[in-house]
Amino acid sequence: MEYNADNVFAKIIRGEIPCNKIYEDEFALAFYDIAPKAKVHALVIAKAMVVDFADFIEHSTADEIEGYMRAIVKVTEILNVNETGYRIVFNSGPDSGQEVPHLHAHILGGEKLQTENL
Ligand code: AMP
Repeated sequence: MEYNADNVFAKIIRGEIPCNKIYEDEFALAFYDIAPKAKVHALVIAKAMVVDFADFIEHSTADEIEGYMRAIVKVTEILNVNETGYRIVFNSGPDSGQEVPHLHAHILGGEKLQTENL
């Protein structure tokens, strides 16, 4: 799928839509999910304009990939789920139910998570 900058996360990066920000650096922006599916539910979106995980890996340098992954770890620490545990989810494509076509990791935690579909 070709990247379309009209999506809601691209608008958040451009500051056109507000977010409840947790963390930001040159590679990533993290904020709370507007419809949380767990006690802790954050999104870490890439600054890169890419649709999903495969698009990101294909079009990013090793430094950009590392920077994004490190940002996800940083957010688990800020959210204090790094000791208690968490799940990272990258939805990709129609079968996953991906709604927003801009790369984002869900970080879920803060409670025992359901294991259905895992
Ligand atoms: P996905 O289904 O993986 O594409 O996930 C998209 C997520 O973005 C959903 O969990 C939504 O609740 C969340 N979401 C959509 N719009 C916003 C927004 N403006 N601020 C925060 N989270 C959002």
